[in-house]
Amino acid sequence: SLQHALPPMSRLNERQQEAVHYIDGPLLVLAGAGSGKTSVITRKIAYLIRDCGIRAQHIVAVTFTNKAAREMKERVMSLVKSSEAKGLTVSTFHNLGLNIIRKEHATLGYKPGFTIFDEQDIKALLRELMQKEYAGDDGVDEVQSQIGSWKNDLITPAQALEKARNPSEQTAAIIYEHYNRMLRAYNAVDFDDLIGLPVQLFSQHPEILAKWQARIRYMLVDEYQDTNSSQYLLVKQLVSERARFTVVGDDDQSIYAWRGARPENLVQLKEDFPSLKVIMLEQNYRSTSRILRAANVLIANNPHVFEKQLWSELGKGDELRAIRCRNEDAEAERVALEILTQHLKTSVPYGQFAILYRGNHQARLMEMKLQQHQVPYHLSGGTSFFSRQEVKDIMAYLRLLANPDDDNAFLRIINVPRREIGPATLEKLANYANGRNVSLYNAASELGVNECLEQRFVERLQRFTSGLDKVRQQCAEGDAVASLRSLMMDLDYESWLRQNSSSDKVAEARMGNVWFLLDSLKWIFENDEEGDMDLAKAVAKLLLRDMLERQNEEDTDDQRVQMMTLHASKGLEFPHVFIIGMEEEILPHRSSIEADSIEEERRLTYVGITRARKTLAFTFSAKRKQYGEIIDCLPSRFLDELPPEDLIWEGLEEAPVEVKQATGKAALAGIRALLKQ
Ligand code: ATP
Ligand code: MG
Repeated sequence: SLQHALPPMSRLNERQQEAVHYIDGPLLVLAGAGSGKTSVITRKIAYLIRDCGIRAQHIVAVTFTNKAAREMKERVMSLVKSSEAKGLTVSTFHNLGLNIIRKEHATLGYKPGFTIFDEQDIKALLRELMQKEYAGDDGVDEVQSQIGSWKNDLITPAQALEKARNPSEQTAAIIYEHYNRMLRAYNAVDFDDLIGLPVQLFSQHPEILAKWQARIRYMLVDEYQDTNSSQYLLVKQLVSERARFTVVGDDDQSIYAWRGARPENLVQLKEDFPSLKVIMLEQNYRSTSRILRAANVLIANNPHVFEKQLWSELGKGDELRAIRCRNEDAEAERVALEILTQHLKTSVPYGQFAILYRGNHQARLMEMKLQQHQVPYHLSGGTSFFSRQEVKDIMAYLRLLANPDDDNAFLRIINVPRREIGPATLEKLANYANGRNVSLYNAASELGVNECLEQRFVERLQRFTSGLDKVRQQCAEGDAVASLRSLMMDLDYESWLRQNSSSDKVAEARMGNVWFLLDSLKWIFENDEEGDMDLAKAVAKLLLRDMLERQNEEDTDDQRVQMMTLHASKGLEFPHVFIIGMEEEILPHRSSIEADSIEEERRLTYVGITRARKTLAFTFSAKRKQYGEIIDCLPSRFLDELPPEDLIWEGLEEAPVEVKQATGKAALAGIRALLKQ
C-alpha cells in the first residue's frame, strides 16, 4: 500500500533535484516535515541505478522502522524495474547490523545460528544475575536501560566500571560485565549488539571493513536526527573517506533522545566531513497552510540550531479543532462517531483517517468504541497473540520438543516455571556445550557434565531434559496434543502464571491463551491433508503463522482507520488526523514534566501535527479515570501554543472557569469565535 508515494512523474523542485543529482561528496538534506526528504532518497536511489550506472547491490539505504523500510522499498520499486533493483539493501540499522554479524560471525567469535535476545529475554537474564550477585532484582529496569545506553555509547563494561560515580552505577557496571559474558556463553546477542558488534569488528579489523566499504558504493540514511552514537559511527566507518552518502533529517523531529539518539550528530557531521554540502528544503507538499502554520508556531517555542521556515501551496484549509469531552469514554465515542459520520457523508475511505496517541494504553477504549460502531481499524504496534509472554513460553516448549538443539527455546524456559538453575550453572553448561559443539539440551543430558557441575544441578537439569524426552516420545506415539495438555498440568504452569500476573483474573485470561494455542495445534493435526503430520511439522506451521501474523500486523490497508502512537507515526502521512488525549500529564507526559524535558514532547507533538494533510483535530477529556480514581484534567499546554486564529474550540461552553483560564489566549479566541456564531 503506497500511502503517499511521490507520483513517479511529478516534478521535483529545484532544491530537491539538486539533492538528487549531487553525488560527488557527502550531502546533508536538512528540512522540515513533509518537504520531500524521503522522496529525495527514493528518487536518488533510482537515479543512482538508472543514470549513474551504480548497480543496486552497491547501494545501501537505512531507515528507522521496518514499516518505513518496507515503504521506502516499495517507493523505489515503482521507479525502477525489478531486475534493476536486484541486490538493493533497504533496511533498518538493526537489520544491516544483523547482516554484517551473520557474514562475519566467525571473526566475532560467534557460532552460526546465534540467537537474538529480545527485551524480555534480556530482562529475565538480568533478573537472574542480580538475584545471584545481590540477592534481589530491585531496579532491574534501571540497570537494563543503563546497560543499553552504555552499549549505545560503545562503552565497555571495564570503562563503565571505571567511570561509575555512585554505588548504583557500580552495581550496573558489574552486572553489565556478567551479562556480556553470559551472552557470549549462550551464543547470543542483544539488540544493541546488532550495531555495537559491527562497529567493534570494523575498528579492530581494517581488512574486513575495507571489504564492506568496497561493497557499499553509496549510502543513504533517512530520519538521521534519530541516530545514536553507535549508529553514527557505523555510518562513518562504512562510508570511509570517499564519503559518498546522503543523509536526510529534521532536528525538530528528534523524538528518541530517551533512547540515546543525538540530534547533535547533525552538527558533528560537518566537523567530521568538512566538505559536507547542506541543502535545505522549505516547501511542504503535505499539509494545508493552517496545519503547517500551527506546526511552525508550536515548534518555534523550542530553541533552534537551524532556522527553517516551511510553506505550502496547498491552500489555507480547514481550521484545526480542539474538542473538549466530558470524560475519556465520551472522547473515544466522539472520535469514533466523527469518523463514522464523515465516512458515511463523504465516502472518504476509512484508511484516510488516523488516530494518534502518546501511549499504547490509550488505544484500548478507542478500539472498543470503534468496534461498537463497526468501524474497521488497524492497530500498529499492539501486542499480537504470538508476542504474549505466555504464548512465547509455550511456543518455546513446543520448539524444544520439536528440536532439542534450539538453544534459544531452552534458555527461555529452563526456569519457567522456576527450577532453581542459576546463571552460573547455565554459564558452565554453555561453556561445556560450546567446547563439545553440542546444544545446551544435549549437553545437559550428557554424562560429562558431571565433571563441571555440582551433582544437584546436574540432577535438576536432567530432570528437565528427561521429562521433555518422555513427552516427546508420547507425542510421537500417541495423541500429541493430549500429551501436551498433561505436560501443562504437570508443570503447573497455571500457578506460575498466577505468581507472575497482576491479578488472578489476568492469570486466568493468560491461561486461556495457552489452551487456545494448544487448540490451534490440535486443529493443525486434524486438518492435515498429507497424513504425515508430526510435532515438528505442526510446530513449524505455528511458527509460520506467527510470522504471517507479524507481517499482517505491519501491512497497512486502505479500508481501515489507522491507529498508532505518535512515535510510530514518524515519516507517515494521512489526510485526516485525530490526536487524542491532548492533556497535561499525557502530552506532555507526566514523566517529562517531572524531568523537565518538555522540548522532546513538543517535538513529538510537532511530529503528530505534521502527519496531517487536510484536517486535524485534537481531543481532550475534562475527567479521566486513573488508578481507580476520577481525576480532573487540564488541556495540554501545547494547544495553548497554537495560533488562536487557526484553532476552533468545541465543548468549552460548559467548562469551568479554570479550564478557560488554563487555555489562555487560545481559549479566548475560541470563545470569541463561539460568540460570533
Ligand atoms: P517527514 O519529515 O514527515 O518524513 P519528508 O520530508 O520525508 O517528511 P516526504 O514524505 O518525502 O516528506 O514527502 C511528503 C509528501 O510530499 C509526499 O506525499 C510526497 O509524495 C510529496 N512530495 C514531495 N516532493 C514533491 C514534489 N516535488 N511535488 C509534489 N509532491 C511532492
Ligand atoms: Mg520522511
